[in-house]
Amino acid sequence: MPEMLEGKKIVVLAGGVGGSRLVRGMSHHLEGHQLTVIVNTGDDFTHCGLHISPDIDTVLYHLAGLAHVERGWGIHNDTFHCMDALKWLGGETWFNIGDRDLATHLLRTQLLQRGHTLTEVTAYMARNLGILHAVLPMSDDACRTMLDTDEGILEFQNYFVRQHWQPAIRRIFWQGAESARPTTAVMQALRSADLLVIAPSNPFVSVAPILQLPGVKEAVSALPVIAMSPIIGGMAVKGPAAKMFRELLGKPASVEAVVDFYDGLLDGLVMDEVDADLLPALQTKVKHVSAMPTLMLTAEKQVEAAGQFLHFAQSLLPDLVDESVREA
Ligand code: GDP
Ligand code: CA
Repeated sequence: MPEMLEGKKIVVLAGGVGGSRLVRGMSHHLEGHQLTVIVNTGDDFTHCGLHISPDIDTVLYHLAGLAHVERGWGIHNDTFHCMDALKWLGGETWFNIGDRDLATHLLRTQLLQRGHTLTEVTAYMARNLGILHAVLPMSDDACRTMLDTDEGILEFQNYFVRQHWQPAIRRIFWQGAESARPTTAVMQALRSADLLVIAPSNPFVSVAPILQLPGVKEAVSALPVIAMSPIIGGMAVKGPAAKMFRELLGKPASVEAVVDFYDGLLDGLVMDEVDADLLPALQTKVKHVSAMPTLMLTAEKQVEAAGQFLHFAQSLLPDLVDESVREA
């Protein structure tokens, strides 16, 4: 464990696969009480009568060592008998749910129906899965990511899974945003954090939903913030992030575009070693920039990349704390 981070509290903003890969790696280097993950719930939806929280599940499965690492969603070695039966019966099968994964949705739905909050349900499951780090849904209120596309207005999972993120997006908005609030646990975690990490998650549909909740962006700006770029060599590792930069901002995806998206929020940036030639240009925008291996396609790579990331954070933290004291 990097010694200086001992006793420091690190809060990570995360979506599904990119967030989980970094967080899983970090969990190897940090004690339980040091790491809190605030997870996007803009992807949540009701399907077959079940409350599904795709990003929370991906984070839980990764932290519990249950994840299908290469695929990035669901449980390793899961079977799909229920999906087969649904197909015979003429049910909806566009959203794949493994048999073990199904148990998560059944239990979550049952506990929510009994009046527990999503925060309580997530903590209960995390505890029973042996997870020592805190996993917090960004909100207990529904705040659903909606996409205005050339195929009309689509709910996130409809766009992402059913339509394989092919429709062109014109605008993103959140249904429920007027009344959705971050949870007390989220705000407390942000207030007591020593470092805020923005995971290499999709900026538009994984990180922005968290930042748009009332009070979150302000709380985040008061902290030292370090991000890992989800864009490597101008491309997303997985999913529609690169396409979103083109469609929504009219520019190609790049590390610079990621930095611009976060609009002055970043004190530090970690990008992939393949983008190292961008270092001088980025240093004009972010004070502390480092290039290192950030592809985390195996459990080992996750631990390695997270270790290097934390090492970088450790070397910066005294500086960043000084700077924020001066600014305050
Ligand atoms: P989702 O909710 O499952 O779509 O996942 P996230 O929003 O957390 O992550 C999607 C983003 O993660 C994409 O933009 C990918 O480029 C990025 N990503 C996925 N795996 C990796 C990785 O190993 N390294 C880095 N740097 N980014 C990754
Ligand atoms: Ca997601």
